[in-house]
Amino acid sequence: MAETRRIQTENVAATETVAARLGATAQPGDTVALVGDLGAGKTAFTRGLATGLGVAPDSVASPTFIMVAEHLGRLPLYHIDLYRLEPGAVDELPLREYVYGRGVTAIEWFDRLSEGALDDYLLVRIDYAGSGRILDFQAHGSRAQAWLGILPANA
Ligand code: ADP
Ligand code: MG
Repeated sequence: MAETRRIQTENVAATETVAARLGATAQPGDTVALVGDLGAGKTAFTRGLATGLGVAPDSVASPTFIMVAEHLGRLPLYHIDLYRLEPGAVDELPLREYVYGRGVTAIEWFDRLSEGALDDYLLVRIDYAGSGRILDFQAHGSRAQAWLGILPANA
């Protein structure tokens, strides 16, 4: 089973569709680690994940002051955005209470965490590619690897 996938999406709906497939198959404790520039599509990806989990996608936003937004779907979705967090405060976030909980966790700006903060997560890097985006998936750990296996292998 490949540990990586690369998927190009031409619009935001396509990104949400890919993410929704992961949301539909997510299990308690699964974590998505999102990396990419401002406007790359991290929140859009989380919205798709929410759809797959049965959460109303419109409830997923870019929180201005809230660091963790909880949504209830088939499983709880914990949406964490580290963008506005002071570097020192990142390490004080009770991350493990979320990622080892019974929900699914999506973390925007995952690269603000210190190395080794989590041991099992699906890394999703989103890069601009013309008018679309390239989604690069990399599974870290056996749980993430099994989850990533539901996406079609690279052509
Ligand atoms: P981030 O959370 O990474 O800052 P957002 O998800 O808030 O980014 O915004 C992504 C923006 O890029 C949206 O306006 C969305 O419509 C646009 N967009 C255009 N093409 C794509 C694509 N292929 N995938 C995701 N978003 C896209
Ligand atoms: Mg965002």
